[in-house]
Amino acid sequence: MLTSDKQEAWTQFLQFVKTRCSVAAFGNWFAHIRVLESSAEEISLEVPNIFVQEYLLSNYKKDLCAFLPVNTLGEPAIRFVIAAAPKKNTPALMPIISADPSPDSSPIPEVKLNNSYRFENFIEGPANQFVKSAAMGIALRPGQSYNPLFIHGGVGLGKTHILHSIGHYIRENHKKLRVQCITTEAFINDLVDSLRNKSVDRMKKFYRSEIDVLLVDDIQFLQNRLNFEEELAYTFEALKNKGAQIVITSDKPPSLLKLSERTIGKMEGGLVAHMGVPELETRVAILQYKAEQKGLHIPHKVAFFIAEHIHNNVRQLEGAINRLSAHCRLLDLNITEELVTKTLREMLQQAPREKISVEQILKSVATIFQVRVSDLRGSTRTKDIALPRQVAMYLAKEMISESLMMLGASFGKTHSTILHACKSIEKKVATDENLRRQIGMVRRNIEA
Ligand code: ADP
Ligand code: MG
Repeated sequence: MLTSDKQEAWTQFLQFVKTRCSVAAFGNWFAHIRVLESSAEEISLEVPNIFVQEYLLSNYKKDLCAFLPVNTLGEPAIRFVIAAAPKKNTPALMPIISADPSPDSSPIPEVKLNNSYRFENFIEGPANQFVKSAAMGIALRPGQSYNPLFIHGGVGLGKTHILHSIGHYIRENHKKLRVQCITTEAFINDLVDSLRNKSVDRMKKFYRSEIDVLLVDDIQFLQNRLNFEEELAYTFEALKNKGAQIVITSDKPPSLLKLSERTIGKMEGGLVAHMGVPELETRVAILQYKAEQKGLHIPHKVAFFIAEHIHNNVRQLEGAINRLSAHCRLLDLNITEELVTKTLREMLQQAPREKISVEQILKSVATIFQVRVSDLRGSTRTKDIALPRQVAMYLAKEMISESLMMLGASFGKTHSTILHACKSIEKKVATDENLRRQIGMVRRNIEA
C-alpha cells in the first residue's frame, strides 16, 4: 500500500511542476503518470510510454531529487513501469492522452522555407565558400554525391540559410523530388504528437519512404534524447538506403555531439563541412548587401567600422542594419561613424586586435611583476613566481581565443593547470585591489 506521505511527495512534485510548465505540457507529460509503489528508498511510477520517462529525467532530474527518494549516486530512485497497452494492436508506444485519432488526415508538419534564404542571397567569402559549394553540389545532384552533408558552425553564421537554399533550389529545379525540412526540435515534437494521435506509423512511413530530400536543422537538440535519436537514426538509414539526400546542420562537429558512436559515425560518413566566421571583407559585403536591400546607403568607411566591431555573428550585423535603418528613417539622418557609435553602442564589440601571443603576455607580465620570462616558463613554485605565472595563464585565456588545450601546450602545461590558474586569479582579483591594478597594467601594456 502507498503511504500517504510518499504519495504526498509526488503530489508536491506535481504542484511544483505546474508552476514551471504550460497547462498543455503538463497534460502531455505529467497527467498520466501514476504512483504504483513508494518507500523511503524508491518510488515506482507508471508512465504511458518511454518518452515520458525520458522527458522527466532529462528535464526535471534535479527537481525529482529534491522531492523524491535519491539513490547512492545522487540520482532520483525511480523505478519506471511502462503502462500496458489497453487493447490489442495498439502500438507498444502508447498515446500520451487519448485525443481523437485521425491517423491519415492531418498533414505531416514541416518547416516552411524562408523565402529569402537562397543561394543568390548568400554572400560568400573564404570562411563559408566550402559550405556553399558543397551545398550547391548537393542541390544540383541530390542523393548522388556526399550523403549526408553535415554543416556545422557557430550561431548566426548562415547554416539555416544554406539549408533552406538547398530546399528552394531542389524544389524549383527537381520538381519531382519531395523535400522535407524540419528542425530537430520539431521532429521530436511531431513524434510525440503522432504517438498521441496514434499516427506514429504514418509518420514513420512518411519519413522513411515518402521523401527524397530531408533537411534537418540543429541536430544538437537530439543530444540526451536517446529514444528520439534511435528513431532519427533509423530514418536516416532508411532514407540513405533508398538514395534520398540528407543534409544536417549542427552547432558543433559530429565528434563533439553527445550522441551514440553509431549515429556519429553515420554523420561523419558523408561530407562534414565547417561554416566559419566571415572575415572583415566578407562582413562588409554582407552588410552592404543587406543595407541595399533595405534601401539604405551606408558609406564604405562606416560599413567597415561596423563590420570591424561586430565580428562573430552575421545575425547581429543584420540587427545593426535594422536598427540603423529605423533610426535614420525616423530622424532623416545621414549615416556617419558618430551616428553608428551612438545608435549601436551596446552592439559594438571591441575590434579584434592583431593576434596576441603567449610570448607577448609573458613579456608584459614579467615586466610588470619584475620577474624573468624564463622563470614564468619554468616550474618554480615560490609565490613571487607562481602568482605572475598564473596571471599570465589567466590573461592568455582572456585575451587569446584558443582552446585550453592549445594554451596549455604553449605554457608546457595541461589544460587543467590553465583552468586552475584562471579560477585562482578570478578569486583573488575579487578582493585584491593591488593585483587587479597590476593585471590592468599588463593588459594595457599588451593592448597598446
Ligand atoms: P545559423 O543557422 O547558422 O544560426 P542563420 O542561417 O539563421 O544562422 O543566419 C543568420 C542570419 O544571417 C540570416 O538572416 C542569414 O540570412 C544571415 N546570413 C548569414 N550568413 C550570411 C551570408 N554569408 N550572406 C548573407 N546573409 C547571411
Ligand atoms: Mg540556424
